[in-house]
Amino acid sequence: MNQKNPQVLSREHTLMIKYGAPFLTLPNSIDTHFANIEKIPEHNVDWKDFNFDPNTNAENGFLYRISRAISTRVNANYDGWPVDQVKESYKTFNGRPCFVEHNNSDPKRARGVILASIYRETKLNSGIIDGSVYCLEELDARTFPKLANAVMDGELNGVSMGADVQGTICSACGKYASKPSEYCAHIPKLKGQMTTVYKNGRKIESRVWENCIKPNFFELSSVFDPADESSLIIKKFYKSRA
Ligand SMILES: [Zn+2]
Repeated sequence: MNQKNPQVLSREHTLMIKYGAPFLTLPNSIDTHFANIEKIPEHNVDWKDFNFDPNTNAENGFLYRISRAISTRVNANYDGWPVDQVKESYKTFNGRPCFVEHNNSDPKRARGVILASIYRETKLNSGIIDGSVYCLEELDARTFPKLANAVMDGELNGVSMGADVQGTICSACGKYASKPSEYCAHIPKLKGQMTTVYKNGRKIESRVWENCIKPNFFELSSVFDPADESSLIIKKFYKSRA
């Protein structure tokens, strides 16, 4: 695996790199409703939310796209993205490169840039807050016409973010780890599974996932993944084909 971003390689500690994956459920309901996946609310996001009018702001030869980059849920990698952490960090998406299928080791392979990002949230009937981050991307369609066509034709129909995180907290025991060597006994072997822990002297069953702390979103990739409703593409615009 050589999927680290050059922008972050200089950091001295061992980075924890996370990639987007289909979202399974909300953190608060992961134990009780694990099999009952609630649909992520679709926020009414449009070009105007980015103060962007494709008819006047789009440059020739560039493709523009709005997509949902991440939601505050527990995903199929059993990485959880708490609301407060995502709200605090989503602007790190701004100015970051766009790739294809996380081929992000060489900045020369960037296909575009994230122009802006916004956060939207919905309070569900259960009282749980469900948040999502939406990004506006500008892709270089003139230099990469195959990519542009694949996006416009819906062949590359999703996006997937890349992030390094300052650390993670185990959902079962609450242990914080800033690198894999600091993990508790649960994360390396039991991610996604149930385990028994003692809380306030009581024995409880808890599912194991990692809550990501202080994410730094460093890329957004075009991916083919029709199953991932979290990586919804909401709008796309390419002048020469419009
Ligand atoms: Zn643990």
